[in-house]
Amino acid sequence: MSNPTHRSHSHYTGIYPGNLFMVVAPSGAGKSTLVNALLAEDKDILLSVSYTTRSPRPSETNGVQYHFVSVDDFMECRDKDEFFESAEVHGNYYGTSKVWIADQMKQGHDVLLEIDWQGAQQVKKQFRNAVEIFILPPSLDALEDRLKKRGQDSEKVIVRRLLAAGSEMAHASEAEYVVINENFERALTELRCLVAAMRLRFTSQYARKPQLFVDLGIHSTPQQ
Ligand code: 5GP
Repeated sequence: MSNPTHRSHSHYTGIYPGNLFMVVAPSGAGKSTLVNALLAEDKDILLSVSYTTRSPRPSETNGVQYHFVSVDDFMECRDKDEFFESAEVHGNYYGTSKVWIADQMKQGHDVLLEIDWQGAQQVKKQFRNAVEIFILPPSLDALEDRLKKRGQDSEKVIVRRLLAAGSEMAHASEAEYVVINENFERALTELRCLVAAMRLRFTSQYARKPQLFVDLGIHSTPQQ
């Protein structure tokens, strides 16, 4: 059935069919383990692989956890405006590829960014539909314990990260959602629920199935 009022989602500048999730946490809150478990079961969410000037940890592979680059290369990309967002965290630089994000979102994929609060602020300024989920540890002791048990950082780095954790967590109030990672299974369930809820937002549903809404006589333009 042809409908003169039908407009494809490309008509709504800036509204992508995909969702943009940002997961923010201090080191040691268990963010990566939670995110990896979510991604393993939900193949419709793509993880953005950031660029960083930090050295790889023993368990890390270039191009998998991060693209490991020199400070010079990072600065060149930043000067060329190739980052969607970038920040200095714990004395190293981190950034998200602008081209990669735009490509995935235009194809309708849901994208997840594991970034810090500074990056989250930059993303929200550019993309109002981005949602920030802050992962908190159940206590300061638990945070310290997890950092030590990870055993991948030197004592000096651990102390630096612990000191930074307090100021990072002060930014939890900027997030739309908070998950407290006391029990892993419960935290994962909560993360899953948030993803499901975001996919059901009016803007997400409308952008994914514009024709259905038109066929049902729902013509209002979603607010971005
Ligand atoms: P780590 O070195 O432990 O992998 O990450 C340190 C911090 O940098 C974490 O808070 C992590 O979320 C953040 N981070 C990782 N990638 C990015 C990025 O692309 N942009 C920003 N702003 N922060 C990032």
